[in-house]
Amino acid sequence: MGRIDKQLRSDLDAIRDAGLWRGLRQVESAQAARITIEGRDWINFSSNDYLGLASHPALGQAAREALEQFGTGSGASRLICGSTQTHHELEAALAQWQGTEAALVFSSGFAAAQGVLTSLLGQGDVVILDKKAHASMIDAAKLSGATLRVFRHNDLENLEKRLQWAAEQGGRVLLATESVFSMDGDCAPLAEMVELKERYGAWLMLDEAHAVGLHGPFGQGLAAADGLAGRIEIRMGTLGKAVGAAGGFICGSGSLIELLVNKARSFIFSTAPSPAVSAAARAGVELIQGAEGDSLRQQLWQRVEELRRGVESLGWRTPAGPSAILPLIVGEEAKALAMMGQLHEAGFFIPAIRYPTVARNEARLRVTTTTGHTGEDVAALLDAVATIR
Ligand SMILES: *Cc1c(COP(=O)(O)O)cnc(C)c1O
Repeated sequence: MGRIDKQLRSDLDAIRDAGLWRGLRQVESAQAARITIEGRDWINFSSNDYLGLASHPALGQAAREALEQFGTGSGASRLICGSTQTHHELEAALAQWQGTEAALVFSSGFAAAQGVLTSLLGQGDVVILDKKAHASMIDAAKLSGATLRVFRHNDLENLEKRLQWAAEQGGRVLLATESVFSMDGDCAPLAEMVELKERYGAWLMLDEAHAVGLHGPFGQGLAAADGLAGRIEIRMGTLGKAVGAAGGFICGSGSLIELLVNKARSFIFSTAPSPAVSAAARAGVELIQGAEGDSLRQQLWQRVEELRRGVESLGWRTPAGPSAILPLIVGEEAKALAMMGQLHEAGFFIPAIRYPTVARNEARLRVTTTTGHTGEDVAALLDAVATIR
C-alpha cells in the first residue's frame, strides 16, 4: 500500500468510527416509487423526483427528439458555441413560468448557487445565510469573498440583528435562504423575511429547489404561493428534482441574467448541458403548469397527508407547513443507521441523513413521498415504522 493510500485509509477509518461512512449503491432501474438496487426490489421513499417526471414518457419523447436533431453533446461552453436552441427555449419557458424578465440555466443547482453569489458579491459585501441553508449556498458564500453571517434557522429576530449589522458595513447585503428546507421539510417565513430585507435594503436570493413543481399556482414555488415572487431579486431552482431532468436555473431581471452570463464562472467555464436534457426539462416545466401537473400535485399532497397523519399518530414530530419531505429525527448517527437497516430489511429504501448534511447528533431518516406511491405503500411504511418504535 502506498503512502498516500495509507493516509487515506486512516482518514476513512476515522469517518467509519464516527458512524459517518457513506458508500454508493448501484441502481438498476429507472427512478420511480419502485426501484431495483443491487438485484433487489425496493419501495423507494428517498427520491426528490416528487412528481414522477424522471421516467415520464413526455420527457423521454422530448429528449429523444432533441437527441435526433442535436446529438448527445453541446460541444462547448454556452459562450463558445454550445448555446443550443434547446437551452434558449428552456430559458424562455422558465422565465414565462416564473413571470420574470429572464432566466439562465446552469449544469446543476449547485453550479447556479456558485455562479450567483460569486458574481454579485465580493470583499466588503455581506452574505447572510440561514443556519440550515444548503451546502451549495454555504460554499458559494465562502468562495465569494464576502463576509458570511449566519442566523438561527428561520429566526426573524436573529435575522434582523444580522441585517442591522450588515447595513452598517457599507457594502452590498444579500440574504439567502431556502423556501422549503431540504432536510427538515419546513418552510421559511417568507412574508416577514421579504419585509425585513426591504427595510434594511438587502437583496434576497431564494432557493426553491424543493418547492418548484410542488407549491403555488402552476407549481411556481412557495414565493408565488405567498404572492411574493415579484419582490424577490433572485430565484433559484433545480431541474433535477420535481422537474425530472437535470440542471439548475436562476430567474430574475434581464440585467441580473446578463451579469451572470458575463461573470458567473460556473456558467462560463463549463460545457453546456446536453441538449436532450434541456429538452426534457422544458417538457417537464410545461407539464408541471398544465392539467396533468395539477392532478399530480393533488395526488402527491393526498399521500403526503396520509403519511404525515400516520407518523404523528405514532408519536413522531412532523415539520410545520406542507412539504413532501418528512424527517424522522433520531439524533445519534448510529441509531439512525440501525433504524435505516431495519427499514431496509422491510423492503423500504430510505436514507439515514447524517453530518455534515445535518448537524451532529441530529441524524434522521429522510422520507420523501412521490406521486408513484400508492395508499398501500404509505400504509406499509407506517407499519414498518411502528414496529421499529
Ligand atoms: C439539491 C439542492 C441543490 C442543488 O441542486 P442540484 O441541481 O441537485 O445541483 C441546491 N439547493 C438545495 C436546497 C437542494 O436541495
